[in-house]
Amino acid sequence: MFSTDKNRTETLTAGLVIIGGGGAGLSAALTAAEKGCKDIVVLEKRDRPGGTSALAGGLFACGSPVQERRGINADGDYLFKRAMEWAHWTQVDPKILRAFINKSGDTIRWLEDKGLEFDLVQLYPEQTAPVQHNPKGHGARLIQVLAGQCRDMGVKLLLNTGVKKILRGEEGNIAGVLATGDGEEMEIKTGAVIIATGGFCGNHELLRKYFPPSYEGMTLSGLPLTGDGIRLAAEAGAAIEDFATVVKEGPRYDLYTWPLMALEREPATIWVNKKGERFTDESTGYHVFESVNAILRQPEQVCYTLLDTRIRDFCEKNGFMLGRRGSGVPGLQKVLQAEAEKDKVKIAGSWEEIAGWIGADPGVLKDTIAEYNDYCKQGYDGAFTKEPEYLLPLESPPYHAIKGMAVLLDTIGGIRINQRMEVLDNQNEPVPGLYAAGVVTSGWESEVYCSELSASAFGFAVNSGRIAGENALAALTC
Ligand SMILES: Cc1cc2nc3c(=O)[nH]c(=O)nc-3n(C[C@H](O)[C@H](O)[C@H](O)COP(=O)(O)OP(=O)(O)OC[C@H]3O[C@@H](n4cnc5c(N)ncnc54)[C@H](O)[C@@H]3O)c2cc1C
Repeated sequence: MFSTDKNRTETLTAGLVIIGGGGAGLSAALTAAEKGCKDIVVLEKRDRPGGTSALAGGLFACGSPVQERRGINADGDYLFKRAMEWAHWTQVDPKILRAFINKSGDTIRWLEDKGLEFDLVQLYPEQTAPVQHNPKGHGARLIQVLAGQCRDMGVKLLLNTGVKKILRGEEGNIAGVLATGDGEEMEIKTGAVIIATGGFCGNHELLRKYFPPSYEGMTLSGLPLTGDGIRLAAEAGAAIEDFATVVKEGPRYDLYTWPLMALEREPATIWVNKKGERFTDESTGYHVFESVNAILRQPEQVCYTLLDTRIRDFCEKNGFMLGRRGSGVPGLQKVLQAEAEKDKVKIAGSWEEIAGWIGADPGVLKDTIAEYNDYCKQGYDGAFTKEPEYLLPLESPPYHAIKGMAVLLDTIGGIRINQRMEVLDNQNEPVPGLYAAGVVTSGWESEVYCSELSASAFGFAVNSGRIAGENALAALTC
């Protein structure tokens, strides 16, 4: 679908150069092309466009045509206040967040106009409104559509081409970029650059700089991108924030195994650590961006979801609470059995055997289960106050244990920007001609990913890309 321009000369000229062909970069390119810029080059380091965006499920929006057609009031003002409270008004620049929220509904209209159709997803039962818009075909399809339309509009997409340096002129203006593609160096002269290089999950130096050592134990679910944009921006005069966010979730059984991923978040299950101790209210499993924090505090950052046959059969018949009660999960027992044969799940007639598989002291696990079953009989969870409706004693063998991990999806930060996606220097002045979009930027997410605005990583990528594309036009020479 995409062509690499094999006839590159060593020096090119472009009106606008975009570094990174993921969700943010392609949205920026298409927006600028639609506004009339004819000379846009997107430089993408990998052999395909999409980046982590191609793995995403959906994107945040409020006030979208999808919500309006269904009579859903997803009030942007209310969501803005909730998100700022969530952030305690630290780390998040309210003007950036506002720009994102305000743009988001129109972005869904923009994408629908391109032929995409959306499902609305409520992330957890008490979420204010469903705000996650999952395109049919998910992020991969959205990328395919954006990249195809970029191509139709004449945007030049150079694959296997990594940017090494952003060049500045004598007056501090942006003058071009240096890139390497197929082993050849090239210089592209331009007056405007948008950095959209994604996160730094594959850069251990940056991971160590920004996050505590416990994050080293997380399992990478995304791409090992190296955060090049942070270095490129810093060398070009940008301020880099000391703070970044890990987009993480858990427990997660396997990266893409739907039924067990949902089963391990069933609120009637219990979660124990490697020592066989319970450590949290398991009904927080719907808050995957928060429940993962409890797992990260446990030895080896793992968690074991325990259930009995009664819970398993209930889910097989009635479905999971994670948005699917009522539909049933035929074959759940077979899936568990198949995973048990691979030793990824343990099914056993006694808690001693389960303890042996986990590596826990059998006495500790037995005490944990006995205490929990007592709580169930009293209808009161004396340890973590789990709601009584979820307190079902684990008494029907065979018992099941599913190993859950804390997974790393992406990082957010740390180029300093303003609400126009202009890159700022240490005096908070825009670096002329330099813009950034997507998760390489800071100022719109605090320490824990805000679940009220679910799907805001991909959402911010597309929306900030559009905003950057519009504002970069001011600096364009095309
Ligand atoms: C499994 C999974 C599921 C997810 N689901 C969701 C979801 O449902 N909702 C949500 O909001 N978020 C989700 N996320 C996170 C989200 O997908 C990303 O955080 C977001 O899409 C990042 O967009 P981006 O455009 O900033 O970066 P990316 O899409 O990662 O694009 C960055 C691009 O820049 C390129 N690049 C990097 N350095 C250079 C360089 N020097 N020169 C040229 N090119 C370069 C990269 O190769 C890459 O293609 C998920 C993540 C994962 C892993």
